[in-house]
Amino acid sequence: MPNLSFVTPTRNSPWGTYLSQIDAVEPYLGKLARWVETLRRPKRALIVDIPVELDNGTIAHYEGYRVQHSLTRGPGKGGVRYHPDVTLEEVMALSAWMTIKNAAVNLPYGGAKGGIRIDPKQCSLKELEKITRRYTSEIGIIIGPQQDIPAPDVNTNGQIMAWMMDTYSMNVGATATGVVTGKPIPLGGSLGRVAATGRGVFVVGREAMRRLNIGMDSARIAVQGFGNVGSVAAKMFAAHGAKIVAVQDHTGTIHNDSGMDMSALLEHVAQTGGVGGFKGADKIDNENFWDVKTDVLIPAALEGQITAERARRLHTRLVLEGANGPTTPDGDQVLAERNIVVVPDVIANAGGVTVSYFEWVQDFSSFFWTEDEINVRLDQIIIGAFKGIWETHEKHKISLRTAAFTVACTRVLQAREERGLYP
Ligand code: GLU
Repeated sequence: MPNLSFVTPTRNSPWGTYLSQIDAVEPYLGKLARWVETLRRPKRALIVDIPVELDNGTIAHYEGYRVQHSLTRGPGKGGVRYHPDVTLEEVMALSAWMTIKNAAVNLPYGGAKGGIRIDPKQCSLKELEKITRRYTSEIGIIIGPQQDIPAPDVNTNGQIMAWMMDTYSMNVGATATGVVTGKPIPLGGSLGRVAATGRGVFVVGREAMRRLNIGMDSARIAVQGFGNVGSVAAKMFAAHGAKIVAVQDHTGTIHNDSGMDMSALLEHVAQTGGVGGFKGADKIDNENFWDVKTDVLIPAALEGQITAERARRLHTRLVLEGANGPTTPDGDQVLAERNIVVVPDVIANAGGVTVSYFEWVQDFSSFFWTEDEINVRLDQIIIGAFKGIWETHEKHKISLRTAAFTVACTRVLQAREERGLYP
């Protein structure tokens, strides 16, 4: 592992996972491998202190980050995550995966990510607003519509993007809608953005299932995470005839062998905040989620979920990575040995950032598209990118992950070489 003085990754930690993915792609980069070291370090990483006065009058300090892994192909792009486990190492890995993802679907962006180590569920709305505004102001020295464009990620949403856009705009003295994506529609947001990541998971899944001869009508699917990604994907698969047989979120794990009624489950989640206690399924132990018999498994929560131990237990044919980094390198190896196909995060969940790109383009041109136009263009980009990755996978007899990295890293390093080193 390269010696970066400010992180000490382990093999299966997020940055360690990313580094082993780069090791795997190196032999397929030809002469461009000369430049590969550039991918093993972020271009720039900012750590900020976020002091706020809480509702009870005490002063709290939170740690925030914005990492720009690469700006080679365009401005930084990637979400902002609020979670108690956020670390610099995690944000570095997430920013690097954005570089690969943006290049894999050929968006004119580098890769970036941000985060605050905080449990937003413990904050009032007012506190969340103050924290968001101070964070935005602190990272304001490196973000901007042409520099780096944040977006929602785990535990952040349109309201947080609205505060970010407002704070940045106040600081520069002019409304800058293009500084963040995932905004509410009246502030220059895009139709279709909220559902885009889940839609992309479905579209890529359907393409992969067709190639693996997994019939949609008879498919049994389990979903981990029922937020913006997992719930939309589950709803779309169910609408096309598949059975959602297990769902897990922070409130528990539910199972129904004959498939769950997705409208009833979505209604239950809207009312109670989670899938736990849903009447249309049985509660099972969280760890037993990994033993459920399925055709397709969709991890759509956090990193590091499919470990080697869980990978040995899975009864499935296809893993669609809705989350970023859900499979550890050891888990990946076991899945490969067991011939379980993995559609990697960098293509499976690229629908979100693709519609973020559409939002940014619409903001710049001040001309807004219909939802149909957005979905048609999204499907085209995702299907085209998946096709190229599938062909690379067949040509070199490599995993879909290494194939996606081959396509993406070739684009990044070609740009790197053509730009040349300064000075
Ligand atoms: N957070 C999302 C991701 O991981 C979206 C990022 C964006 O839209 O910029 O891809």
